[in-house]
Order: sequence, then C-alpha cells, then structure tokens
Amino acid sequence: MNSGELLYSGKAKSIYAAEGDDEAIMVFRDDITAFDGGKKDTLSRKGSFNSRVSGFLFDYLGKAGIKTHFVEMVNDTSMRVRRLEMIPLEVIVRNIAAGSLVRNYPFREGTPLSPPIIVMDYKDDARHDPMLNDDIILALGLVNADELETIRQMARKINDLLIALFDEVGITLVDFKIEFGRYNGEIYLGDEISMDSMRLWDTSTGESLDKDVYRFEKGDVMDVYRRVAEKILD
Ligand code: 5GP
Repeated sequence: MNSGELLYSGKAKSIYAAEGDDEAIMVFRDDITAFDGGKKDTLSRKGSFNSRVSGFLFDYLGKAGIKTHFVEMVNDTSMRVRRLEMIPLEVIVRNIAAGSLVRNYPFREGTPLSPPIIVMDYKDDARHDPMLNDDIILALGLVNADELETIRQMARKINDLLIALFDEVGITLVDFKIEFGRYNGEIYLGDEISMDSMRLWDTSTGESLDKDVYRFEKGDVMDVYRRVAEKILD
C-alpha cells in the first residue's frame, strides 16, 4: 500500500504520496515516544488502535461540520488524507487541570476549567514546544488574525463534540492537542486525535486511559489503548 514516495516521517506516523497531489496516505506506526522523543518504544498494535480511533473521530467531527483532512481508512493502520499545508501550532484544549498546566502554574490537578482553556504551543521539539501568545503567533506570521480566530472557534467546537462522545462511554476528556493546516485557502483539522494526543480519565475511577500510562509507567499502556478503542469503536 505504501508504494508512494515517503514525504515525511514523524515520531509515530509516516506520510506517503498518493495518486494526485491533493492527497496523501498517513500511516500510524507502532512507535511510541514521550518527553520530546527522550523515551521511545515500539509496541505491537499501537498504530492500529490510534489509527482506527483517529479515523472514527475525524469521521464523527466531519459529519458535525468540522473540516478535516480525513478522507477514508485504507486499512487498520493507514488513512487517506487531504494534503494540508501544516501550521506549526499545537493547539491544546483543557477542560480539567493536569499535566504541564499543573507543573507550571498553581492549579491543583483535577480542578475543572470553565470555560475551557485553549493554549497554543510552537511545534518544535528542539525548543521543547514553547507556549505562544497571540502577539508572538502573529509576529512570527504563523497564521493571520482571521485564521487564528477560526482555529479557536474550531477548537472549541471540536472540544464540545468530543466531550459529548466520550461522556457516552464513561470517559472524561481532560485535555487534548490538535493541529491544523491550510487546504485550498481554508483551515482544516489535520494530524491525529488519538490516545497519544488526548488525556482521558475513566469517569468513575479516575484511572488514566492515555499516553500518561506510558509516560509515567502506570501500567500496561497497550491494554489501556485497546480498552479505549473498544469503547469508542464497538
Ligand atoms: P501537557 O501540556 O499537559 O503535557 O499536554 C496537554 C495535552 O496535549 C495532553 O493531552 C497531551 O497528550 C497533548 N500534547 C501536548 N504536547 C503534545 C505533543 O507534542 N504530542 C502529542 N501527541 N500530544 C501532545
């Protein structure tokens, strides 16, 4: 399937050319990393869990009116996507205080954040993804003011939609990271939405159901990814 030219290889996904310049094939590998690539492993079936969950969530968001790069699943680890001009922003939406918000600011872990907090980091591992503000984003020319507002509105809507979906299966959406790009001059949601990029807690037990299990060695991360995939996809 991945017969096209390799266009890009990231820490956990590879992008291959597809027929026509408009589309690409995104392959989710079994690699898992944390701490800007400082911790890495390869875990069987990880690519399949994240790919299928991402595909399902993109399809769900697309049906609700969010423009996404997702076209169709090709197989369990690959999807056909629109080829976006990616914007190097990590857009993070937080519903509950956790992770770096608790490490860097005087929030207590587990405190609900209402309205949700949206932060944007500059996507650059070598600089440890520093947090931006609107002035820095505009001064760097990463997006213009209209695009920034569109990204914020889309992030809020995506958050509302994902909260509702996870709530139905007993999972609390604590926070997540998404990335956007341009396609025919419009802002589209790209990259992935998976257990690698969301913080998910079991609503009744508070147990972590995401990459924090790998980051902080809280248990069998693939068992947790399989459980989330089953809840979402079944
Ligand atoms: P935090 O800033 O607390 O480390 O992360 C907030 C949320 O964004 C978490 O759900 C985390 O998984 C996600 N996130 C932040 N940075 C990255 C990143 O570089 N890659 C991925 N996949 N997710 C990230």
